[in-house]
Amino acid sequence: MAGIGNGIKMITDEAKLKYLKDQESKNTMPIKKNKPHYIAMNGNHGYLPDHITAFPTYSEAVQHLIDVFDLSPYGKKAKKLRECGYVTLDEDGGPNSSEIRDFGAEYAEIVKCKCGNIGIHNGD
Ligand SMILES: [Zn+2]
Repeated sequence: MAGIGNGIKMITDEAKLKYLKDQESKNTMPIKKNKPHYIAMNGNHGYLPDHITAFPTYSEAVQHLIDVFDLSPYGKKAKKLRECGYVTLDEDGGPNSSEIRDFGAEYAEIVKCKCGNIGIHNGD
């Protein structure tokens, strides 16, 4: 059984990068990459989200939800959203919180998606 392994070429990472770069420069079609994107959503607990909007970056998704719910940009809820990608809107923000009000949704969330087609999340 001589010959096993002959088909495997060992190449260095450097060679791989060069190969990809060469391909890229020859190829006029954009290389299809599953670019991750971020889906901002909100809704009520236990239900499918009422609204879904996709953004190319996490910070845009955060900003969108801040705008939609008119959160104070440096408030607790905005902070939580930024840090956790999830915030419970109907939760008491603390005894002196100015953020207790009816948001029309109970939670806001940001999820990362790699489906390769950001457009499908935004309806038409
Ligand atoms: Zn997606």
